[in-house]
Amino acid sequence: MDQNSPEVMTAIQAAIKASALCEKIRMDLAGGESLLKSDRSPVTIADYGSQAMICKLIRGRFPNDTIVAEEDSKELRRPDRSKILERVTDYINAFIPGSSSEEVCSWIDFGSNSVSGRFWALDPIDGTKGFLRGDQYAIALALIEKGRVKLGILACPNLYADIHRPFGEKGCLFLALEGNGSFQMDRWGVNKRPIFVSKVTNPSEAVITESVEPDHADHLTHQRLAQKLNISKPSLRMDSQAKYGILARGEVTLYLRVPSSAEPGYKENIWDHAAGSIIAEEAGGRVTDVIGRPLDFSSGIKMEKNQGILVSNGILHEVVLKALEM
Ligand code: AMP
Ligand code: MG
Repeated sequence: MDQNSPEVMTAIQAAIKASALCEKIRMDLAGGESLLKSDRSPVTIADYGSQAMICKLIRGRFPNDTIVAEEDSKELRRPDRSKILERVTDYINAFIPGSSSEEVCSWIDFGSNSVSGRFWALDPIDGTKGFLRGDQYAIALALIEKGRVKLGILACPNLYADIHRPFGEKGCLFLALEGNGSFQMDRWGVNKRPIFVSKVTNPSEAVITESVEPDHADHLTHQRLAQKLNISKPSLRMDSQAKYGILARGEVTLYLRVPSSAEPGYKENIWDHAAGSIIAEEAGGRVTDVIGRPLDFSSGIKMEKNQGILVSNGILHEVVLKALEM
């Protein structure tokens, strides 16, 4: 597979369209913070819309490929959800004119929940809480063959493109192909440039990124680790796999995800890490779980063999693993 392979072209187009759809919904519906408590419908509409769009485009080009994705249309077909379905269909129609609600449901149902030898892993909206807050979220798509991630795409529609201008232009697309490096493009898929992890060798100069949501990772343990390594710079909290993107482009050095005690025994979903992990690795980074095991993308939708996540610039990986043994 190279940069011009149909898999890459199709995945980029699908991610661009889904990200335009999600942004449109966010602009139209998810304006205020109050929505977070009262009304999750914008994220529901965007979630279904993004999955329908991406599944249709991938299945259209690769009819035999499995797509492992979070949603199915069962809920959406319920009579009390007809308003939501109508709105999903309206939004899809702006991109694929003439689509019926029945077609939209059938595209969503291209998604399955069992893995195979070659399959796509899709998170139609990763970081739903960030989406509703007006913060970061991502559309994450990966192609996995025999348990190895071959291709990863992350669309981060609300992420600043230039790390030196955090209030400047928004919208990034990250792309990685196995053995081919990692790249950042703008939101329309142009202006492609290679990206690399930071070259920090002294742990005290590292910058940590972690989830915003306290239930998704153990912030206190992260803080203890920072103290142990004499890290003085504040951690950067960010929703979604955008964290892998900012690490891959050298903006932060470590992404920590020590399991939180809020949900003991929680297992990570493959679609929450497949695309991000190849983007970090191909930029020169290293990705394991918090005890140094490689990520398991072959067992099922859950990463049963893993516990938490550690991403680094590679150089600092062993030092951090050691410090995590505390
Ligand atoms: P983040 O924004 O990095 O916290 O990641 C968002 C993802 O966290 C969601 O897509 C969920 O699948 C996942 N998630 C939900 N509950 C937990 C949990 N208890 N621990 C870790 N991740 C979780
Ligand atoms: Mg997710």
